[in-house]
Amino acid sequence: MDKKVTCSKCQDKKRIMRANGEISPCFDCLIAGRMDQHDKNPKDSGIAI
Ligand SMILES: [Zn+2]
Repeated sequence: MDKKVTCSKCQDKKRIMRANGEISPCFDCLIAGRMDQHDKNPKDSGIAI
């Protein structure tokens, strides 16, 4: 079964691997504010999503 992802661009990984091997943040998630849950709230990281 296919897993449903919020962002089809990065598959909810919040990062995108470029062709040259560089890792860059997913801009779509960044502007949508989806990065915050993972990167800015370490205290809440135990909450199941
Ligand atoms: Zn994304």
